[in-house]
Amino acid sequence: MLGCLAESGYGIAEELSDATIAVINTCSFIGSAREESIEAILEVADLREKGTLKSLVVAGCLPQRYGKELAKELPEVDIFIGTSAFRGIADILDQADSETNRGIYVESGSTHLYDDRTPRILLGAGHSAYIKIAEGCDRVCAFCAIPGIRGSFQSRTLESVVKEAEQLGESGVRELNLVAQDSTSWGKDLSSIPGKGRPKLHQLLHALDQVSSVDWIRLLYVYPSAVTNELIEILSSGQRVLPYVDVPLQHGSDRILKAMRRGTTADLQRKLVNRLRASINGLTLRTTVIVGFPGETDADYDELVSFVKEMQFDKLGVFRYSDEENTKAIELSKKVPRKISRERYKNLIKVQREIMKEKQTDQIGKEDRVLLDSLINPSLGIGRLSSQAPEIDGVVHVAGSSLKIGQFASVRITGVNEIDLRAEVI
Ligand code: SF4
Repeated sequence: MLGCLAESGYGIAEELSDATIAVINTCSFIGSAREESIEAILEVADLREKGTLKSLVVAGCLPQRYGKELAKELPEVDIFIGTSAFRGIADILDQADSETNRGIYVESGSTHLYDDRTPRILLGAGHSAYIKIAEGCDRVCAFCAIPGIRGSFQSRTLESVVKEAEQLGESGVRELNLVAQDSTSWGKDLSSIPGKGRPKLHQLLHALDQVSSVDWIRLLYVYPSAVTNELIEILSSGQRVLPYVDVPLQHGSDRILKAMRRGTTADLQRKLVNRLRASINGLTLRTTVIVGFPGETDADYDELVSFVKEMQFDKLGVFRYSDEENTKAIELSKKVPRKISRERYKNLIKVQREIMKEKQTDQIGKEDRVLLDSLINPSLGIGRLSSQAPEIDGVVHVAGSSLKIGQFASVRITGVNEIDLRAEVI
């Protein structure tokens, strides 16, 4: 959206207090994401009363999902733009400039999928970027509203993703994070290559591995039952593709996995983790799980806790189940009371903290490479190891001289602070 606006002549304000139009991009796939989005909207609406802000725009999944209903509940907002319509944001705002009407720009169907010709402006210091390789999802996970919001699965072409990677690399991006709702389905809707069949994710990763202007390529959101030997091979042998993978496993009880319609069992997941660890040297394995799914008994939850303890994940995200419209799980009985799901959530976080503590402490004294994201002062920076994806896996506080944002530094790990690390330049 920033790129599209800049291309049409809109200036991008550094601070909200300098802006005349605020665009809030929202998420809505679970209750807590919706709450966070609404809080952000109300906060900005408050500023509007006091400042120079003339127009408030809400974009993304929240209007895509709730359109007109949302407009009734949030009279403070002028314009709503769904995920299907964001490419036209500049035209929409041009129109809004001349008219004072409120507008709802939400089309049903698939999310607009950008390509290498879509103008981009990166947030932050510009050395790390996400690339969306596909959009939408055709799977049937019982808890998940995303297929209804984002529409059916669509892949970008290999050429478009590689071209964007090259362009980003040439503009100074050092790290690419590949995202999609379901990365492992990439290619299934593309045309077959004569004699080779449809393109597969490992082929895309091999092509991206050749993009010499970037250093790190990280793969996120891999569907467990779709991990192939070829995918494991490139994760283990890549020059730029990192030995990092995010495989959301969701639970450790067969009963709950079945009710979730994940098409797998705890044992198959266990085998997958062992296979990944045995094949990929220095693997960082991230996963997410859900607590409080309808029908989750104490015994199911205990199985999940044992699974997490046994698997010793390097990084773990824990979500609390929330009932979502247009999902199968909303129809299920035996809902877990909020109080219990909150306790289960807190307890599982505690379990993982203990695992992390040990893993982090093991790193003390080791040497590694850090990509510097920001500077607190000239001799103290904040960066990340290749095992730390942006925003979710913690950071490294780096002490040293001549630190530069967007550059790599060789460091020795000197200490641990919860999920963060301390290091000094060597
Ligand atoms: S694969 Fe992911 S996005 Fe797709 S339905 Fe399942 S949880 Fe939702």
